[in-house]
Amino acid sequence: MRQPIIAGNWKMNGSRKSIADLMSGLKNGVAEVGDVEMVVSPPSIYIAEVAALSSGTSIALSAQDLSDATSGPYTGEIAGSMLKDFGCKYVIVGHSERRNVRGEGDDLIADKFKAAQDAGLTPILCIGELLEERESGVTEEVCARQIDAVINKYGTSVLSNSVVAYEPVWAIGTGKTATPEQAQKVHAFIRDHIAKKDQTVADGLRIQYGGSMNAGNAADLLSQPDIDGGLIGGASLKAEDFLAIGKAAGNL
Ligand code: PEP
Repeated sequence: MRQPIIAGNWKMNGSRKSIADLMSGLKNGVAEVGDVEMVVSPPSIYIAEVAALSSGTSIALSAQDLSDATSGPYTGEIAGSMLKDFGCKYVIVGHSERRNVRGEGDDLIADKFKAAQDAGLTPILCIGELLEERESGVTEEVCARQIDAVINKYGTSVLSNSVVAYEPVWAIGTGKTATPEQAQKVHAFIRDHIAKKDQTVADGLRIQYGGSMNAGNAADLLSQPDIDGGLIGGASLKAEDFLAIGKAAGNL
């Protein structure tokens, strides 16, 4: 049985005031969500504050990125140990905005994945195809390549302490959600691809869908057999919407 995981990626949004308001809304409603792991991922400068604001609740903390290095002369970067020190449980690696806007490649992302685990964090590995890749019929190849970058370097067993987020890039922040059938097809492919290497790891792996998931479409997406949660951008910035997605996961 895979516990659903609903994670909010706040990206580079918020202020001390708006984050305090958001956390207050989440704290008021999170107990009603049910057996779902609720996670928030603030901009790193607010992690300490959100750790304090979420203390005593079931809300888990994630970072949006980390360095592949452990310490030293890496100006502007944050090590996994530092995120752990401030209470993070998860860290997103390979978000499409890191891959496609900041130019991070599969190899660096694999190293960030491993650096997260070495620091005691659980990586949320984002994968997914661009619109032109979907249109040219290579969605599965792209997802396989992005997963295999981790497997080929660090083995299949490392996936047992991770979450995978399938996020079709064309659906992120666009309001164009994948249909439940489109998403399920790729999720099933991802699980099957991993199962060919290790069935137990594949069976236990939580695979989130991300890409314009909201309070209105969450239930249909989350009811698919291989969709174990969501990675939510825009809709995670409003407590009511994020909690509604959590409840949709809890009511399945
Ligand atoms: C994301 O950034 O991971 C994401 C899924 O964003 P949105 O929900 O806004 O599409």
